[in-house]
Amino acid sequence: MYSYFRHSEALARLAEKIEEKIAEMVREIEMRREHNGVKVLRAFQEAGLNDSHFAPSTGYGYDDQGREVLEEIYARVMGAEAALVRPHIVSGTHAISTALFGLLRPGDELLIATGQPYDSLHPILKGEGVGSLKEFGISTRVIDLTPDGRMDMERLLEAIQPHTRVVMMQRSRGYAWRHSFSVQEMLAVHDAVKKRHSHVLTFVDNCYGEFVEELEPTAVGIDLMAGSLIKNPGGGIAPTGGYIAGKREWVERAAHRLTAPGLGSELGSMQGTVPLFLQGLFLAPQVVGEAVKGAVFASALMEELGYTTQPHWSAPRTDLIQAIRFGSEEDLITFCQSIQACSPVNSQFLPEAAPLPGYRDPVIMAAGTFIQGGSLELSADGPIRPPYIGYLQGGLTYAHVKYALLYFVDQQLSQGKWPHLLA
Ligand SMILES: *Cc1c(COP(=O)(O)O)cnc(C)c1O
Repeated sequence: MYSYFRHSEALARLAEKIEEKIAEMVREIEMRREHNGVKVLRAFQEAGLNDSHFAPSTGYGYDDQGREVLEEIYARVMGAEAALVRPHIVSGTHAISTALFGLLRPGDELLIATGQPYDSLHPILKGEGVGSLKEFGISTRVIDLTPDGRMDMERLLEAIQPHTRVVMMQRSRGYAWRHSFSVQEMLAVHDAVKKRHSHVLTFVDNCYGEFVEELEPTAVGIDLMAGSLIKNPGGGIAPTGGYIAGKREWVERAAHRLTAPGLGSELGSMQGTVPLFLQGLFLAPQVVGEAVKGAVFASALMEELGYTTQPHWSAPRTDLIQAIRFGSEEDLITFCQSIQACSPVNSQFLPEAAPLPGYRDPVIMAAGTFIQGGSLELSADGPIRPPYIGYLQGGLTYAHVKYALLYFVDQQLSQGKWPHLLA
């Protein structure tokens, strides 16, 4: 690989040093992915998948056997009673919205235990726009994180009122310089909430979290969760879609929002996606492992170069996102442009910062992906606001992530940065 760089010797030295440092982390990631890979394989077998399930349905999609077996496999993998896995769910935001509208009714309150939620959820929760929870008389309250970035259990428990219906947790950091929350941490909140307030349901935004740990939130008792198929569980193969999984009753209520009251999960032609969703799920633990190894390499490398990262390379992980504090607009933009230049698709284009619907600040996004917006594929982005934090995620192969990171360093060396690396 190093022969492709201008400063090949310096980059080889640097990369070897980093890989030595992260060797133990990488071994753990590989063990976890073996476990998850076998978990998925066994779910396919237990559900009795056979190749007749790959035949597409048409029209209403009544009795679509492929859809039924796909959803059974997802439920097994997620440790859930039921799952809804559909191409009709257009994004992660839509999956989360569908789940919340399924759970909440006018007069109810939604409490968010993990601080300000992901930018694209703001219009659903508090938006003045058409169709928000607020417009339906459902209130939202955000419980800020503690100064050290943890969930504030005491304030959360105090905040629960008789009309509080759902406590929501966001597993991943999203566009925020904070911790991601492990399944264990979310379980602690779930248990504390249920112990005192058994009427309250727990919901997890599981985007970017699938297969990073050995268990998913629903496997430890969370009532409902949702995620995107163009992130982790789609394995880079699912062309679109989202999923909702959890207790059967709540999955069914979400299904009545996704389709129509009275129709629920019984309808929906899958439009040929079943084999792709299944193949993607089969590969997902492997690909997630590659992406997580890439994130650990990126963190260790960027720390070595003097940037601050979150999480630190040696910290346990529960999601794919690697935040890097660049401290300058220029470095953030150069970084994203390097990621773009190393993509398999659209490598000839130069990304620039621009406004994006659903986001507060202009955003620069680098993604040369097979699936539009697919962020299990290597991508980098960041809102243009100090201290210029970039978010790196995905990578179908570790080699791709490593190459792209070293390409950035190569570019910077050519600009005269870090001369000590050339000594
Ligand atoms: C990606 C993401 C979402 C929204 O998903 P989209 O597919 O972009 O709509 C929500 N929450 C978190 C934490 C995410 O990472």
